Amino acid sequence: MIRLDSVTKRFGTFDALKAIDLEVRDGEFMALLGPSGSGKTTLLRLIAGLAFPDSGRVLFADRDVTAMPVAKREVGFVFQHYALFKHMTVAENVGFGLSVRSRRTRPGKTEIRRRALDLLELVQLGKLGDRYPAQLSGGQRQRVALARALAVEPRVLLLDEPFGALDAKVRKGLRRWLRHLHQEMGLTSIFVTHDQEEALELADRVVVLDHGRIEQVGTPEEIYMQPATPFVSDFVGDTNSLPVTLGEGMAFLAGRPAFECPHLAFAKGKGTLTFRPHDVAAETPDRPGVVAIVGTAYRKGGVWRVEATMDGVQTPVEIDVDGALPCPQQGDRLCVAITRAQIFPDRVLAA
Ligand code: ADP
Ligand code: MG
Repeated sequence: MIRLDSVTKRFGTFDALKAIDLEVRDGEFMALLGPSGSGKTTLLRLIAGLAFPDSGRVLFADRDVTAMPVAKREVGFVFQHYALFKHMTVAENVGFGLSVRSRRTRPGKTEIRRRALDLLELVQLGKLGDRYPAQLSGGQRQRVALARALAVEPRVLLLDEPFGALDAKVRKGLRRWLRHLHQEMGLTSIFVTHDQEEALELADRVVVLDHGRIEQVGTPEEIYMQPATPFVSDFVGDTNSLPVTLGEGMAFLAGRPAFECPHLAFAKGKGTLTFRPHDVAAETPDRPGVVAIVGTAYRKGGVWRVEATMDGVQTPVEIDVDGALPCPQQGDRLCVAITRAQIFPDRVLAA
C-alpha cells in the first residue's frame, strides 16, 4: 500500500533520515517508535506530503507520489502542533477540509454540516458541534482533531503523538477507541509515539527508529521477544545489558558460564547479553546458575523487582522474584538461571 524506497532527508548537513526502506500494508495499524529526535515526525511528514525527500521515492499503491503535494494524497493527519481553529465552532473545524475544496468537488454547506455532525457522532462528541475549542477538554479536542482528519475520507490516517499531552487514563481509553475506529473504517494508519507501551499495545507492526535509521520492523511480539539490536532491546521494555565473553556456544559473565548459546558456536570474544527482568528462574542442575546479590527490592504487581549485582559484574541488573516469597533483603545471595536472553557478539568468526 505505502512504500518508501531508500528515502533520505537532510537538514543542512544533518541526515535526519538515512536510506529508509519501509512497506506499510493495506489496512495495517503501524507505529513509529523511537526516542526524541530519531526522525519519527520527519518520516510521517514525508508520507503526508508536508515535506519531500532529498532522495528516494514514496509510493502509494505502486503510484509514485514523491513530489505530490499533501492536498492530492488523500491522507488525513493529526499533528502535534496542528491545533484546532479557535474562532471556528467544533463542527466548522471538522468540516474545514471539505469547505476549502475546489468548487467542483466541494459539497454544499448543509451537506458539509451534516457530515461534520455525523463524524462528531462517530468520535462520541455528537452534542458538542456548536461549542468552541476552548470549551472542550484536552481529550475532546484530540477527538475533534481526529474527526477533522477523517472528514476528507482519507484512506490513510497519519497521527503524530496524538495523545501525547493527555493524562495517562484518558490516553489509555482513547487509544483503545482509536484502534477500534481504525478497524471499523478500514483505514491504513501510521502513528508516531515515543511510548513503547502504546506502540506494543496498539500496533499490528512497530517500526523502531534511532538516529534516522530503522533498527527493526516487526510485530509487537517480535520486537519484544526477539529484539534485533541492543538498542531495540534497551528501548522496548525493561532490559538488562551485560558485557560477556563468548566461546564454544556459551556466554561467560565475569569468567563463569551464564547462558548457553549453541547457535553462536562460532562467536568468539566479547559480546553483549541482554535479558528481561522476568527471564530468570530458580537455578536447576541442567542450566548454568549465576549468583545475584540483592541491593534493593520493591513490590511490582505480583513480583518482587530486585535490583542486584551479578557476582563479579559491576553493572547492576533488575530481576523479578516470585512475589509470594518473603521480600528479598539487601545482601541476600540469590542463585538464579537466565532462562531467555539475546546475545549480540561483537564479531562472528567464519565457520
Ligand atoms: P522525532 O519526531 O523523532 O522527535 P524529528 O523527525 O522531529 O524527530 O526530528 C529528527 C531530527 O531532525 C532532529 O534532530 C531535529 O532536530 C531535526 N529536524 C527536524 N526538522 C528540522 C528542520 N525543519 N530543520 C532542521 N532540523 C530539523
Ligand atoms: Mg516528533
